[in-house]
Amino acid sequence: MSKLTDINYVKGVLSRHGFTFSKALGQNFLINPSVCPKMAEMSGADESTGVIEIGPGAGVLTSELAQRAAKVVAVELDKRLLPVLSETLGDYDNVKVVNDDAMKLDFHELIREEFGDRDVIICANLPYYITSPIIMRLLEEKLPIRSLTVMVQKEAAERICARPGTRASGAISAAVHYYSDPKLLFKVSAGSFLPAPKVDSAVIRLDILHEPPVQVTDEAKFFQVVRAAFLQRRKTLSNSLSAGLSLPKSEINEKLTQAGIQLTARAEEMTMQQFADIAALL
Ligand code: SAM
Repeated sequence: MSKLTDINYVKGVLSRHGFTFSKALGQNFLINPSVCPKMAEMSGADESTGVIEIGPGAGVLTSELAQRAAKVVAVELDKRLLPVLSETLGDYDNVKVVNDDAMKLDFHELIREEFGDRDVIICANLPYYITSPIIMRLLEEKLPIRSLTVMVQKEAAERICARPGTRASGAISAAVHYYSDPKLLFKVSAGSFLPAPKVDSAVIRLDILHEPPVQVTDEAKFFQVVRAAFLQRRKTLSNSLSAGLSLPKSEINEKLTQAGIQLTARAEEMTMQQFADIAALL
């Protein structure tokens, strides 16, 4: 068993390095010893896999990944954690820590240089302030990866995994389902973190699809329609699309009727196919 499952060891290293948690960087470190092994196991990391981790923190999840995968590249923005990680991950020769911003880093280049033809997955306990933008960035860039296993706030997990056409769905559900097959793996209580956040979290896995589930001729337009549809989710689709796309309501209504969609429908009732039909008509 890794010494990193011992919270007193981790606290000791952090305090020896004078580390203080930054709220702005979303630093809530996992201290529940059962979560990281489970998350690493369910990510599918094995001896043939390369793993990219975003935000290793003190390296608790990193060490679990390193025990299972061929190689782990961990991208950490906070320079203050570099000496901590050198100490906690010193025993692993298959881990590389990169000091960079995951919102700016060129992941295509990183994968080419660090993993070559290897199967690659991403596994991370994401800083909550960039949950949606980082997930969307990683999906939209069409990286040669097999899956993304990430810990996010429970509500975000439920929204991301909700099937388009169901009540809990939102713009991110449609976007995520366009690129992947998302699953909620397990929930994690707020008390599993140091410091404890206000809300519970959940681990989700997004298995990347080789083909999108619907045929879309213009992806930019498809996503523009999805975003506009959910801008005012309490209003009818007709109103939100008219406002969000700056088009006259009469034109929107004509296209919705053409697509066989009721004018009283709301965005959350739309399936992926219906969003694709609307985008194709507009
Ligand atoms: N993986 C650790 C764990 O589970 O205990 C820490 C997770 S903590 C929720 C998020 C981590 O992401 C922190 O280490 C934080 O410094 C790092 N981080 C925040 N913003 C980042 C960014 N833009 N790029 C890379 N890492 C970032």
